[in-house]
Amino acid sequence: MAQQDDLLKKVISHSKEYGFVFPSSEIYDGLSAAYDYGQLGVELKNNIKEYWWTAMVKMQENIVGLDASIFMHPTTWKASGHVDAFNDPLIDNKDSKKRYRADVLIEDHIAKIDAKIQKDVDKAAKRFGDAFDEAEFRSTNPNVTRRQGEIDQIEARFKKAMDDEDLADVKALIEDLGIACPESGSKNWTDVRQFNLMFKTELGAVSGDSGVIYLRPETAQGIFVNFLNVQKSGRMKVPFGIAQIGKAFRNEIIARQFIFRMREFEQMEMQFFVKPGTQMQWYEYWKDFRIKWHQALGIPAENYKFHDHLKLAHYADAASDIEFNFPMGFKELEGIHSRTDFDLARHEEFSGKKLQYFDPEENRSYVPYVIETSIGLDRMFLAVLSSSYTEEQVDEKSERTVLRIPPCLAPVKVAVLPLLKKDGLPEKAREILKSLQAEFYCQYDEKDAIGRRYRRQDAIGTPYCITIDHDTLEDGMVTIRERDTMTQERVKIEEVASIVRGRVKYPVA
Ligand code: ATP
Repeated sequence: MAQQDDLLKKVISHSKEYGFVFPSSEIYDGLSAAYDYGQLGVELKNNIKEYWWTAMVKMQENIVGLDASIFMHPTTWKASGHVDAFNDPLIDNKDSKKRYRADVLIEDHIAKIDAKIQKDVDKAAKRFGDAFDEAEFRSTNPNVTRRQGEIDQIEARFKKAMDDEDLADVKALIEDLGIACPESGSKNWTDVRQFNLMFKTELGAVSGDSGVIYLRPETAQGIFVNFLNVQKSGRMKVPFGIAQIGKAFRNEIIARQFIFRMREFEQMEMQFFVKPGTQMQWYEYWKDFRIKWHQALGIPAENYKFHDHLKLAHYADAASDIEFNFPMGFKELEGIHSRTDFDLARHEEFSGKKLQYFDPEENRSYVPYVIETSIGLDRMFLAVLSSSYTEEQVDEKSERTVLRIPPCLAPVKVAVLPLLKKDGLPEKAREILKSLQAEFYCQYDEKDAIGRRYRRQDAIGTPYCITIDHDTLEDGMVTIRERDTMTQERVKIEEVASIVRGRVKYPVA
């Protein structure tokens, strides 16, 4: 864990040092949970978006894009359930003045009990070796069953309290469990209150409730309200999808862990409209497609796992998260949800407009069911950055920090480096640079010894460095160095573009 915490710290400081991510408005000491993407961050972010858009829109016959406005009619959020139910239960510690999510305090308490169970399981597994039957051990070992019983009881009580909106019992549960403020150790808690996560603002000069509008907490609703516009104008036939990339805003109670949980973030969502009754098949299809999309990048497969939801939101009939092994452990990166006809049916109800599809094969109209895939762009950014950050010993004397970013996502694809700043080498280098720039984002660097320049490019994940030397002027060849293996090869100038192209194109999921 210490090592992992360390990794997050290193990623944060590396991001800042090289211009990937800066704290927002840093000269005023920053704004909590808001970040700015710097000169390389914006490139990486754009590349992730393009990889997603290519796979989800360009390469799909029946999915089209959309760019809906962030402000929407306020009734949208009544219909979607966000006004009434997009809440987190919050609690303050009176001594430390720190604010927490009550559910997170309880979940953390459960995680501690679970960790004890896991410790017993690991010990027993070691002791019994191949003969170990984990399921049997878990169901018979008295310590484990007692602790599991404790967990089940806590979960049941918490669920009931939330279902009954009995916030007093949520507080009582926290007290009964003896949960203390992680910062101060104090158990002096306020009452639990529901806190709506939507940011409110006012439209125009109107004040009071009639002018209240919200910053959208998800991009999905922009897709639902445009369902018929797109279906009709695009002559789309069910099954079809609408994809969108855009900002979303949530007034998260606790927003720590760098860009993992922010108050302003970006989502890449696709809503796929299907015939009722076929949703399970499409749900499985999109789960499979999305995990392949991740794995095609070459980030080791053991960093991903599915977490199927056992408890479902009231509108869902199946839901699963793709979790990623972040420096803080496995956490949600993407959600795949089968949302039934909940959203379209609610918008029909609240708008009084029909949001149905006439199915010519069935000769009837229906409200389509929806499968949603929703991934946080910033979380994907963190997944790429944290899994690619590597410190390695190059030889006895030197080490390097290298970002092994999948080449298709790397911010800079090629660095063009004249060996010396004289003898016509810079001119030749700039000529080569020009020939590559329209296709690849390149950097030109003539400062410092070549080794240091290589290290700078390693540190930002540039897959290829091209070095121009005196021989280049004679034989039209350059040295191309590959980031991960550090192998160097002499190739003809004309071959450079195709070598780079071959490695940096987006994989097909
Ligand atoms: P969490 O349980 O972590 O709060 P969620 O289940 O509320 O996430 P969804 O509403 O399913 O998240 O949103 C879809 C995706 O949007 C998530 O998988 C995540 O990648 C991203 N996301 C959600 N909230 C944030 C946030 N505050 N900051 C950054 N990304 C976020």
